[in-house]
Amino acid sequence: MTPQASDLLAWYDRHRRALPWRALPGEHADPYRVWASEIMLQQTTIAAVKPYFERFMARFPTVAALAAAPSEDVMQAWAGLGYYSRARNLHACARAVVELHAGRFPDTEDGLRSLPGIGAYTAGAVAAIAFDRPAAAVDGNVERVVTRLFAMEDLLPGAKPLIREHVLALLPKARPGDFAQALMDLGATICTPRSPACALCPWREPCRARSQGTQETFPRKAAKKTGATRHGAAFVLQREDGAVLVRTRPPKGLLGGMAEVPTSEWRSDYEIEGAAQDAPVPMRWRKLPIPVRHVFTHFPLELAVFVGSAAATTRAPEGMRFTPLAKLRDEPFSSLMLKVLEMGLEALKPRPSAS
Ligand code: SF4
Repeated sequence: MTPQASDLLAWYDRHRRALPWRALPGEHADPYRVWASEIMLQQTTIAAVKPYFERFMARFPTVAALAAAPSEDVMQAWAGLGYYSRARNLHACARAVVELHAGRFPDTEDGLRSLPGIGAYTAGAVAAIAFDRPAAAVDGNVERVVTRLFAMEDLLPGAKPLIREHVLALLPKARPGDFAQALMDLGATICTPRSPACALCPWREPCRARSQGTQETFPRKAAKKTGATRHGAAFVLQREDGAVLVRTRPPKGLLGGMAEVPTSEWRSDYEIEGAAQDAPVPMRWRKLPIPVRHVFTHFPLELAVFVGSAAATTRAPEGMRFTPLAKLRDEPFSSLMLKVLEMGLEALKPRPSAS
């Protein structure tokens, strides 16, 4: 028995999720909102993206507004979503749409792929959802549904081209945009990684993994290689007037263009005993007992947090600045830096004396 797109679309018509970037039934989707949401959703959950998306759209309501914004504003609006190269690409893409395409997104997969930061998945998703093109948009949810549907033994990521072929073969002539969204919704709400709700699935009859009782074992994945843990030191320096010493990371590379407190290099062989020589100013630094841990895509990081206080007249070393406490929220800190700051500033709070 072959899975039919019509069964999935009938299910979607009854159970589609209402999402802030999604058009209502019968309405045309706004390519700008579809594109921005797809970039935000990469590696992040819908629940985490929703509030960012609303704020982002209020601040940059059109692709032209985003293109015209200073990059610090864009990084600040993105802060906390992680994967900051996406924010830089998002901004570059908005500028390319305005400068090269008169403010209108190209309406084909190839045209979309020519823009900065748009890969195969995003091009397929935007082409299908915003322009109703017969395109495949294969994300993790879709991979799970398809590998289960066909009980695919091929290992990811090598299986991706085959999964794409399956999706293209399933695509209906009418409503390819709804089909793409239906497949995403099925993966997110019914065909979940643990305990999929097969009894409610419109494809339960043709699903091979369900008939074998092996649903949860798919998709098959090749073993992952993760890098060695890197170590480093972060320095939270607060003046008596509350201002905190911060700097901006170089525009390219990991967390490029984001704000941070001064840190050492992050290396797997970093020796914390010598951290004082990486401090932004020589003084008595207090090392906090618990480090901040964070996991990047390619390596885990462990940062020892050092705190120090300085007179209100202290000047920032070259390339750094003291940001008043009330303005700290306006700095585009990554979630890693927010963890460091939270821990550091808590430790620097004056304690009531025991007497
Ligand atoms: S029947 Fe179950 S395993 Fe198969 S696609 Fe539906 S939810 Fe997923």
